[in-house]
Amino acid sequence: HLAIGGHPSFRESSVGGKVPLGLRRRALRVLVTGGAGFVGSHLVDRLVERGDSVIVVDNFFTGRKGNVAHHLRNPRFEVIRHDVVEPILLEVDQIYHLACPASPVHYKYNPIKTIKTNVVGTLNMLGLAKRIGARFLLTSTSEVYGDPLQHPQVETYWGNVNPIGVRSCYDEGKRTAETLTMDYHRGANLEVRIARIFNTYGPRMCIDDGRVVSNFVAQALRKEPLTVYGDGKQTRSFQYVSDLVEGLMKLMEGDHIGPFNLGNPGEFTMLELAKVVQDTIDPEARIEFRPNTADDPHKRKPDISRAKELLGWEPKVPLHEGLPLMVTDFRKRIFGDQEESTE
Ligand code: NAD
Ligand code: UDP
Ligand code: UDP
Repeated sequence: HLAIGGHPSFRESSVGGKVPLGLRRRALRVLVTGGAGFVGSHLVDRLVERGDSVIVVDNFFTGRKGNVAHHLRNPRFEVIRHDVVEPILLEVDQIYHLACPASPVHYKYNPIKTIKTNVVGTLNMLGLAKRIGARFLLTSTSEVYGDPLQHPQVETYWGNVNPIGVRSCYDEGKRTAETLTMDYHRGANLEVRIARIFNTYGPRMCIDDGRVVSNFVAQALRKEPLTVYGDGKQTRSFQYVSDLVEGLMKLMEGDHIGPFNLGNPGEFTMLELAKVVQDTIDPEARIEFRPNTADDPHKRKPDISRAKELLGWEPKVPLHEGLPLMVTDFRKRIFGDQEESTE
């Protein structure tokens, strides 16, 4: 559905991807729900940069106006304070549906709200997409695999999820959102895409969102001990945000529904992550062990063969390169502009 012609030439974009120049492509109207959040705001940057008209719908639960403030003077950009749990009427060509708190601390804060956002919010955005014939992309999560019994996780694995646990509002919520998305595809002929996102980090993450990378970075900068939960031997795979945004856009523009794992297969124990943070910020940073949270998945690592093959996508930024970019942003936000001159 894209009108493309001419000979493309490329330049680097601010977040590292290639932006085709000279492609004669009809500017699209794109809705990004949750577009004032961490991932959403980076996606908005890329969409605006390629010339699309972008509408952000966000209730500012975990998002901030500051994340998109640099677009407010652009006539092709608009932000609407709105909760996706309520219906909304808009006219767009594509919907990137991101609205949902992502950090365990945030999504456990009001679990009923979290599951409403995932179920009713996703239903509303699918209803909207159906009415206007827009293509719909759901940002699901690696948490649909629960505490996985298969390693690494492939998309065909159905997961090992506790339906009544404290994480269920999020992981069962996202599983239901995937179900709704496929039912609208099969039942209403909607064009849909599903991304299963693995742990992602980068500039603009909430400083105190409780996720491990933001915690360790903020703690090291503030000269506080790094809090390792449990024995620190559990693993995660950390993806830099520009890689994720590239994957989401390739998925939206491509011909495949998914679900696709979008993550960086580099796997680290929490103790190894603490070491990378020490090496990057402060070799003297101490480690303090704390009890782990309930239902914490023991290991997580994406198998990204499907995305490599069908989307031609794989992450490019390793942890030791991405982490310093996030540290620069956190340093500015924690200490203000005065310390910035030391960068
Ligand atoms: P985030 O919390 O920074 O962003 C979520 C945004 O959605 C925020 O701006 C928030 O205000 C908004 N929002 C929440 N509930 C809403 C509601 N009911 N109505 C309107 N807006 C609402 O999180 P993020 O890391 O940017 O995550 C974006 C998406 O990616 C989420 O759907 C999340 O589940 C998914 N995801 C993220 C990760 C990750 O590691 N960051 C991993 C897996 C999945
Ligand atoms: N919806 C919306 N905007 C629209 C169209 C629908 O928010 O432009 C909401 C609508 O309020 C409903 C949900 O999406 O709650 C599902 O819509 P659908 O038409 O699929 O179902 P129905 O309204 O028939 O239950
Ligand atoms: N974790 C930790 N210290 C912290 C925060 C988290 O050791 O300060 C651990 C947590 O127990 C989990 C892993 O880091 O095993 C990833 O947690 P996060 O909340 O970042 O994301 P999750 O993958 O659990 O959604």
